[in-house]
Amino acid sequence: MIKEQVSLIQCKEYDFEAVKAAILQSFDNLGGIEKYIKKTDRVLLKINLLMKKKPEEAATTHPVFTKALAQVLIDYGAAVIIGDSPGGPFNERMLKGVYKACGMDQVAAETGAALNFNTNSMEVQNPKGKYLKELTVVEMLRDVDKVISVSKLKTHGLTVFTGAVKNMFGIIPGLKKPEYHLTMPEVKEFSDALVDICLCGNPVLSFMDGIVGMEGAGPSAGEPREIGAVLASPSPYHLDIVASSIINLKPAEVPTIQRCIERNLCTENPEDIEILGEPVSTFRLEDFKIPDTRNKRLVADWMPDFLKSFIDNRTRPRPTFQHDLCVGCRDCEKACPPNVITMINDRPEADLQECIRCFCCQELCPKKAVTVHRPWLLRKMSKF
Ligand code: SF4
Ligand code: SF4
Repeated sequence: MIKEQVSLIQCKEYDFEAVKAAILQSFDNLGGIEKYIKKTDRVLLKINLLMKKKPEEAATTHPVFTKALAQVLIDYGAAVIIGDSPGGPFNERMLKGVYKACGMDQVAAETGAALNFNTNSMEVQNPKGKYLKELTVVEMLRDVDKVISVSKLKTHGLTVFTGAVKNMFGIIPGLKKPEYHLTMPEVKEFSDALVDICLCGNPVLSFMDGIVGMEGAGPSAGEPREIGAVLASPSPYHLDIVASSIINLKPAEVPTIQRCIERNLCTENPEDIEILGEPVSTFRLEDFKIPDTRNKRLVADWMPDFLKSFIDNRTRPRPTFQHDLCVGCRDCEKACPPNVITMINDRPEADLQECIRCFCCQELCPKKAVTVHRPWLLRKMSKF
């Protein structure tokens, strides 16, 4: 049986030459650039630009990582376009702000790579999708020949871990993203949708910036954590298995990986993956802080409403707003898929009866003013 391959290289800091060497080694491990990219190709680096964040906050793909990958591809002869559809509205003004904050302006200036400013969208068929047979995606996909996913190794409040597969959610234009949350509010269905979107984006290669990742309240409000890993694979699904095992997660604990296993997109056994480079044990962090995402509804349809509400209130995690940290920017209100956040005296309040627990409010709050509260009964149950 041919094993799926994942390249795993040690690189401990964002030193341009060191990262470039790790990326060149990754290409060598996986059979050479020419196996994936033609010299005449226009290549989209679909990086993770969640929101305006400084590189050292570890919420976005680091500019040195992006620069090194862009330089390797440009030196080879390809044309490079850097892009993403971050959270919030997808327009030129917002893109300019995000590129500047995340250091991508400089990457473009120093390498000759282009930054995407095409904010149009288009409808595409997705025959390999399980649920999403048609999708609205960013038009920048039409401007390129190949896509390389360049994700960041981080935790996620809804999907536990955000890796190569979830990174492709950024091909969905800005405010279309909340619609997917709304139509698929359960994490299982939403994870299937993420797999469908990844299949549609069809990255020819997936790289992951795991030099410094994010633990705790990811994908935006957690803490940076040194990991020292550069990962790459033609399979985003197998890449995610290796990346999640570095942070001590089993495949069954990550909903997107579970869906990929069910759909025969990847193996359920990490031993079946051929690691090219350093073994996973070199990087494994057993104390990496993982968010407890248990969001099981323990209510049944036959229960009267008062009982459902009583049980829900004691068992479901919920967003809470730290009004002392909040600056009243309304980003959470705009990001909330079911529109259940109301601003009262410039501070947000959520209608928890209608809240779908997607935690987009936490993800897009620039001030870390949204936390996920886990009721005592849920915390107690988590110990069993
Ligand atoms: S909670 Fe965060 S996102 Fe919401 S208004 Fe306050 S600062 Fe803005
Ligand atoms: S309040 Fe927050 S967690 Fe609830 S639906 Fe809105 S964005 Fe999602």
